[in-house]
Amino acid sequence: MISLLVSLFCILPNKYEITCESRSIEIEPQQIESQDYLPLKPIAEVLNINYVLDHTTQRLYLSGNGHKIVLIPGVSTIMHDNFYQNIPFSTHLISGDVYFPAVAVITTIGGAFEKLVFIKEIKEVPPIHKISIMTRADSTVLKFSWDKSLDFDVQFYPGRAVVEIDGKYTTKSQVKPIGAITSAEITPFKTYTKLELAMKDVNSVLERNDEVVFYYKITKQVKLIVIDPGHGGIDPGAIGKKGLYEKDVNLDLAKMLRDFIEDSLGIRVVLTREKDAYLSLKARTNIANLNGADIFVSIHCNASAQSSRERGFETYFLSEARTDAARAVEARENASLKFDGIEPSDDIISFILHDLAQSEYLQESNRLAEFVQTSAENVLDIPARRVNQAGFYVLRGAFMPAILIESAFISNREEEQLLRNKSFKKRLAYCMFQGLKDFIADYQRRLNN
Ligand SMILES: [Zn+2]
Repeated sequence: MISLLVSLFCILPNKYEITCESRSIEIEPQQIESQDYLPLKPIAEVLNINYVLDHTTQRLYLSGNGHKIVLIPGVSTIMHDNFYQNIPFSTHLISGDVYFPAVAVITTIGGAFEKLVFIKEIKEVPPIHKISIMTRADSTVLKFSWDKSLDFDVQFYPGRAVVEIDGKYTTKSQVKPIGAITSAEITPFKTYTKLELAMKDVNSVLERNDEVVFYYKITKQVKLIVIDPGHGGIDPGAIGKKGLYEKDVNLDLAKMLRDFIEDSLGIRVVLTREKDAYLSLKARTNIANLNGADIFVSIHCNASAQSSRERGFETYFLSEARTDAARAVEARENASLKFDGIEPSDDIISFILHDLAQSEYLQESNRLAEFVQTSAENVLDIPARRVNQAGFYVLRGAFMPAILIESAFISNREEEQLLRNKSFKKRLAYCMFQGLKDFIADYQRRLNN
């Protein structure tokens, strides 16, 4: 019988908190035949009653407050003040203590001694690994890191917000306030985590998945543009028939475009790479996000495996590829993923296309692409093809208007030759600059209306 009992109970991760008067204790239950049982010795202490277990007679005596209970482990009848009383399940003797059915502790034990007892089941609280604050173009974002999505609640007041998360903050580190958030204080409780934030200029708040976005309205200005020269290092990109590397052209164009922007618009530019170095696609977008860039431009050269006659300039934004040609460009540019050990696949494409970040900026990215393409029509001697869309990994997760430019066809003999020419490259960069400039004027006008 004993061995059967041993095999039937197991330790649960949950605990019970038992409170009586000002005393409180946490105890672990034992589960026997699907019922939770609680040990009477600590309960007697919390209730402030006497506990005597007579090992020879196998009887437990509880007494105090003018009352008495006698019980025998394994029996579902107890004696309360000389009256017999049934309890829903029999008690059990486990490692030197008598375990009582949890469901009957309040009524039977608390009732017998005229004590008000509270029992609360403490569920295991899932951990929050990290809470951080980051800035984006028009918002400051509170970001949570956890294993599984937890519920949270945001109360937003003028100048401050209180966030309560149903998880336990496991690290000791405080959160560094930046952007619109001027102070952040974390208070970890047993069953939840409270975060008190002070902020300035925030006028709306958005809760989603693992973040809270605080939007602020100030005069919006494009202050920073991140330009990404595609490929680099071990990843050459497309290679021309005469041996010109796409990665080298991209870098030249990016530097020329930077100079145009900085000299004429006074807007700061950050390049994702300044030299011939490899950088993952994700790292490129991260540079834009972490710097709070207002616009992201990835620069590439086109190549066609089908026809060496293909030529011209085209601009892409992130969305589903509509044509076979766009799909081919998408496949070629996403192939850089393999340098990170990721095999580009249909799954990856659908993952790219479900990007929440870019979907927010879809219209603006489309507009930006239109402006650049219009500029190509006005400025360039090579054909301005059209605005296209495709699922480019490098644009994924960018929280700002973002485009990918295919400047000219390195697979076309004539354009490969042109791409070696400094003044042609300058013309290309100027074309991009002009498109950006027109977009920025239009964008700022709309943002501030
Ligand atoms: Zn490329």
